[in-house]
Amino acid sequence: SNSTSLLIIFIVWFPMTDSSSALRYNGLQGKVAIVTGGASGIGEATARLFAQHGTRMVVIADIQDQLGHQVATSIGVDKCSYIHCDVADEHQVKSLVESTVQRHGQLHIMFSNAGILSPSEQTVLDLDFSQFDPLFAINVRGMALCVKHAARAMVEGRVRGSIVCTGSVAASNGGKKRTDYCMSKHAVLGLVRSASVQLGVHGIRVNCVSPNALATPLTINALGKSVEEIEKTYETYARLKGSVLNVKDVADAVLFLTCNEFVSGLDLLVDGSFVGSTS
Ligand code: NAD
Repeated sequence: SNSTSLLIIFIVWFPMTDSSSALRYNGLQGKVAIVTGGASGIGEATARLFAQHGTRMVVIADIQDQLGHQVATSIGVDKCSYIHCDVADEHQVKSLVESTVQRHGQLHIMFSNAGILSPSEQTVLDLDFSQFDPLFAINVRGMALCVKHAARAMVEGRVRGSIVCTGSVAASNGGKKRTDYCMSKHAVLGLVRSASVQLGVHGIRVNCVSPNALATPLTINALGKSVEEIEKTYETYARLKGSVLNVKDVADAVLFLTCNEFVSGLDLLVDGSFVGSTS
């Protein structure tokens, strides 16, 4: 009968399952995540991947409201929502985290990803602090605020959470032109390394994902070039023939950092061997 064959399948299958690895594999099931800068580029790709892998709720936080709502709706209103949040503003970050916990019970994952480039390139000789300060407010203070408030909510909720920040290959090299950006991404690494040491006692992991240059609105707008032109330029950055870095590659790396149970304090380069190459 049907029920006998079902029973046999269950008896054969059950000893083959390893509940601990299954638990690790299903790392995102039922989890609540915030993705800053989730209306576009790397953040959007990661929000989509999180939802595909079973998060209960992904909260996209951004300042591009129309785009953010569109992305959330396309992922599905039952799985994703949008909240306006300027990460440079502590009140807004605090209330983003508070309202997420209030509405969804807990916060398990923070992908602190929002970041900008200055409108123009600056060597150290012509640093322009009217651009430098706003960039630091988002890329450095914004990252610190997201880590601070996510970690506080996780500690309070006794959640063994995961925090990932978006750095850059610019944190492993001196920048030829974008001094302010290069400095800001070095600061992100300092934040990740300090926070991972300090939050380990609470079971909270903190990691950095550091992509090579890739075509997203960030670079498309700053360089004023087409996606094809940008990808052609960036192909030479990587030492990985025949492969162009894509937002999905970065999202995959974020997924790994989020789900893995032991990696903390890591700077995971997604760079096609750019940083490691010497010529
Ligand atoms: P993107 O422009 O597509 O996405 C960035 C998002 O951040 C945008 O939706 C933007 O509205 C949002 N944002 C900007 N300021 C904000 C603020 N104050 N508060 C909240 N949200 C804000 O660019 P992206 O390439 O996906 O960038 C994501 C991250 O990746 C950034 O931290 C960037 O520095 C980093 N990164 C990008 C590249 C690249 O070449 N594109 C390479 C390495 C690292």
